[in-house]
Amino acid sequence: MGNVTEDHTFAVDRLPRAGETRLARSHRTELGGKGLNQALILARADIATRLVAPIGRDAPGRAARAMVAAEIPGATLIETDAPTDRSIITVAEGGENSILSTAAAARSMTPAAAVAALADLSPGDTVLLQGNLTRPTTRSVLELARARRAATVANPSPIEWDWTPLWPLLDLVFVNAPELAHLSGARDTTGGCRALLDLGLRELVVTLGADGALAASREGTVSVSAIAVEPVDTAGAGDTFCGAYLAATLRGRSPEAALGIAASAAALTVGRPGTHGAFPDRTELSACFGDQVASS
Ligand code: ATP
Repeated sequence: MGNVTEDHTFAVDRLPRAGETRLARSHRTELGGKGLNQALILARADIATRLVAPIGRDAPGRAARAMVAAEIPGATLIETDAPTDRSIITVAEGGENSILSTAAAARSMTPAAAVAALADLSPGDTVLLQGNLTRPTTRSVLELARARRAATVANPSPIEWDWTPLWPLLDLVFVNAPELAHLSGARDTTGGCRALLDLGLRELVVTLGADGALAASREGTVSVSAIAVEPVDTAGAGDTFCGAYLAATLRGRSPEAALGIAASAAALTVGRPGTHGAFPDRTELSACFGDQVASS
């Protein structure tokens, strides 16, 4: 459950400074948003996926409906009075990016609407959330999931409110290193993981860009190096990693194996321009999982 955006990606030589106007080398428009991105990777990894997301009554909303019908057929897209959310992504040479998003549509999802959309949530299901929804809606969904004995996962980015009271309601959380520092107040990754686990979180995956990623729980910490790749556009790397890691654990892989699968999938996204346009397709994800790829 999360957001759908229309992404406008501008390629620049370097990110603009405050007060500066720069010319972009290119511009592309595609659908994105953490909710849609992560659901897309899960669906392409053969996980039965139902995206619940708010959209506007506008052209991006209609495009999202068509795209989702083709790729995530079980989706529930809820029309809101707000326009479909939008992101401006600036990507510099070397792949570094900055992102600016609206969240009026995501924030219009009320706790009651969210709970109603998950009326059939059952034991064995997993709910995945991101930081775009409001805190009351996020809390209501997590409490519903706990009551139904469904697993709970979140990627709190973009962090707009205090997640501390929600850690005990979460089985797995994905953050990058700056987000971990912000959420935990700790200076280093080890201290940050310990702080969140001590507050009741069960498992934490921390992505470290070109330095790889780690998975921490009370049982210990395992890590993986990033796959060496010439970075073209890192936008969506975190979403690819999150979707692939979760898909791997849902398919019974260990945290260590899931980290390796997710790093392979994210490297594909990093090495190509765009967000969805750069995501691994079904065949590539299958190869990341080490599945037997059917020859056509
Ligand atoms: P974004 O918000 O841009 O989607 P993020 O900050 O959430 O990204 P990162 O930690 O930057 O996430 O990247 C996620 C994963 O993608 C990393 O753990 C790594 O596996 C892969 N990755 C990112 N940057 C690189 C890189 N330069 N080379 C290889 N792999 C990378």
